Amino acid sequence: EKKRFAGKTALVTGAAGNIGLAVARRLAKEGSHVVLLDLDQGKLDTAATSLAEHGVKVKTVVCDVTNYTSVEEAIDYAEKTVGPIDLLFNNAGYQGAFAPIHEYPVEDFQRVVDIDLVGAFHVLRAVSRRMVARRSGSIVNTASMAGLQGPPNMGAYGSSKFGVVGLTQVASKDLAPHNIRVNGIAPALMGPGFMWDRQTELQAATNTQYFSTDPETVKKEMVAGVPMRRLGDIEEIPGTVAFLLSEDSSYITGVTLPISGG
Ligand code: NAD
Repeated sequence: EKKRFAGKTALVTGAAGNIGLAVARRLAKEGSHVVLLDLDQGKLDTAATSLAEHGVKVKTVVCDVTNYTSVEEAIDYAEKTVGPIDLLFNNAGYQGAFAPIHEYPVEDFQRVVDIDLVGAFHVLRAVSRRMVARRSGSIVNTASMAGLQGPPNMGAYGSSKFGVVGLTQVASKDLAPHNIRVNGIAPALMGPGFMWDRQTELQAATNTQYFSTDPETVKKEMVAGVPMRRLGDIEEIPGTVAFLLSEDSSYITGVTLPISGG
């Protein structure tokens, strides 16, 4: 089995969540020490326990990515207890409300931007400034297909994820002179699971022309729009992230790769 990340250290944000944990597992399997960052210590402990079998160092750190001081402290802790961060999976996120723009809740818009865009910038800034000093590093940001095509009723999420795609392009240019690559992934419809159920229920509840008002019908409508005619499995994400973090993609920077079934 390939161990592309032997001896490296990875920071994963949103690591107690579905995609974060699946990617952390893949990185650990390929030899990387991992630092898991998320909001909740209990969920982080469960996640860390599930990685114990891989024989790498696994540390957890509670941090709210919307608070820059807390991000700096978390990264200091990660580097002191595990090692210099070589790999960053910048992935914490929140989907927000579903409502057309003229009814979108104002406070939720701010919250989504603070987590998905400003939070991603905070982590990117704090990690990359340490990578710049070492002239080495590889970064993957989690955007979304909602950041490449504006979906209806997702004003805050869609704009934030467009922002993440932009941040990835800008950062790839700013950091290229320092030997650091920055790429992104744009997952689309993943499931089954909580996110898929939440998304289809809330889209149905918007009662707009784009979707049926019945969540089960919304599921069928959404899948019918996917050329491969199925949802993506969470396990179809880690391989792409590992590729973008690894030297296998050594001449790729600034791209956001759709993981979308076409
Ligand atoms: P998830 O809800 O399982 O995981 C997200 C994690 O981020 C959670 O554990 C949550 O606690 C953490 N988080 C939220 N706010 C935070 C904050 N302020 N500070 C630190 N951590 C915070 O969802 P997921 O599907 O694993 O999502 C991971 C990423 O993938 C997100 O950026 C999401 O927008 C994106 N995404 C998901 C899908 C999908 O269908 N699942 C599709 C496209 C993009």
